[in-house]
Amino acid sequence: MSSALTKIEHFIDGEYTQSVGAATFESINPSTGEPHALVASGDAADIDRAVTAARRAFEKGDWSSLSVAERCQYLKRIGDLIMERRRELAVAESTDNGKPISESFDGDILRSASNFHFFSQFAASHADEAYSGAVDERHVAIREPLGVCGLITPWNLPLYLATWKIAPALAMGNTIVLKPAEWTPYTAYLFADITRAAGLPPGVFNIVNGFGAKSAGEALTLHPDVRSISFTGETSTGKAIMRASADTLKKLSFELGGKGANIIFDDANLDEAIPTAVRAAFRNQGQICLAGSRLFVHQKVYDQVVERLVQRVKAIKVGDPLDASTQMGALVSREHLEKVLSYIEIGKKEGQLLTGGEPIGAQLGEKFKNGYFLSPSVFAGLKSNSRFLQEEIFGPTLPVVAFQDEEEAIALANNSPYGLSASIWSQDIDRLHRLSSRVKAGMIWINTWFLRDLRTPFGGQKSSGIGREGGRYSLEFFSEAKCISYKYR
Ligand code: NAD
Repeated sequence: MSSALTKIEHFIDGEYTQSVGAATFESINPSTGEPHALVASGDAADIDRAVTAARRAFEKGDWSSLSVAERCQYLKRIGDLIMERRRELAVAESTDNGKPISESFDGDILRSASNFHFFSQFAASHADEAYSGAVDERHVAIREPLGVCGLITPWNLPLYLATWKIAPALAMGNTIVLKPAEWTPYTAYLFADITRAAGLPPGVFNIVNGFGAKSAGEALTLHPDVRSISFTGETSTGKAIMRASADTLKKLSFELGGKGANIIFDDANLDEAIPTAVRAAFRNQGQICLAGSRLFVHQKVYDQVVERLVQRVKAIKVGDPLDASTQMGALVSREHLEKVLSYIEIGKKEGQLLTGGEPIGAQLGEKFKNGYFLSPSVFAGLKSNSRFLQEEIFGPTLPVVAFQDEEEAIALANNSPYGLSASIWSQDIDRLHRLSSRVKAGMIWINTWFLRDLRTPFGGQKSSGIGREGGRYSLEFFSEAKCISYKYR
């Protein structure tokens, strides 16, 4: 059986390599429930090998002492090579994660290439700061690389979120050890080959596969030669990483969970708001931190919105992730499917299920009968304090709640431990201004969802994170400021 499986190894010092102890684990294809790859399972010894290689490469200086403009040439090459291998990477992502190929090809992989193309231009044009004091003095603030940067990434947007960290970390002259999510190591593995083809010196970019707690992830957060950890994942994992990193005082950036509010007022353009609400809740099987996973609708249009919403949700085509016409694929793992199903049971007790919420692999034919497919669900009648509205479910489930007026909409949106993103739909510009300042979230969308400009700050308030990524925020995180003051005679 194992001989037919794709072999996914670590990438250390420019070479693919197995674990010190030769341990492996199987990676499961979520659409079939069958293993498709055998993955090297790293531990503290593998992390130490990778960090040592990254430190050596950093100290050697043939990466860190290049000019930013020179490093940006490599970034551009990497972006071009991702585009050349776009189809192969998209198939790998959908096989590993279960997401529809249309989303991998036009979303994840395209955005991975854009991350490199964007930072290759943005970092090259980023200026140092200079301050003139008295006539005989000048102060210049420059940015220096940190050294070895640890990156820990989740399974929902595997290559997209890894490259969102790798590109700025490289641009600033650091070397890297990446620990991809255990569920989805495939595209990072293929990406390592792209860094080699682009000519990155050995040791500049390294990958160690494995698990989180008491495994490769934790070992990375404990390693004394790692200067920083940039982490995207669950809020509870962020807390564990913060504790583990305390003794070695690492610089930390956290992109954590979300429970986005989507607020539709009675004067909204419903022809746009309703289809967007469906996309915001069910794209990537609802496994997006920025998902609009709590829908609040003004009571005057509530019945109409719910009716049209349910009709659209019933029409979503769930099926083979590799079929170009599929709109929703499989959830990432059996464990995750079971977690989402347990919330569906909670939702049925706390409110009413209007549609969906059934495991439907068996309806999709023999090949997919053991796949982790779930029909998209809509709930009504849930209270704002219910577990269903308070906790991050991270699956294809959408609760809809009616509100009476603006004050109630704001209170509902803010009644959450999270504060990552929110959408507001209305035609009243004054109301939009009022809400966008009073809703507690790091990103507010007005009459849209998921609109991004890579220069803008990306990140959350409250339990959704610490720090920001994007544009200069990423460059600042992945570097150290140094001030040089001049006195002239
Ligand atoms: P997770 O926290 O379970 O795992 C993320 C990564 O952390 C994995 O690589 C895992 O192996 C590693 N890890 C787990 N425990 C660790 C530990 N103790 N020490 C070091 N590493 C450890 O998250 P997930 O289930 O992979 O991803 C889903 C979560 O990610 C959701 O909460 C989602 O909202 C969040 N997310 C946030 C953003 C954002 O930008 N804010 C983006 C995507 C996903």
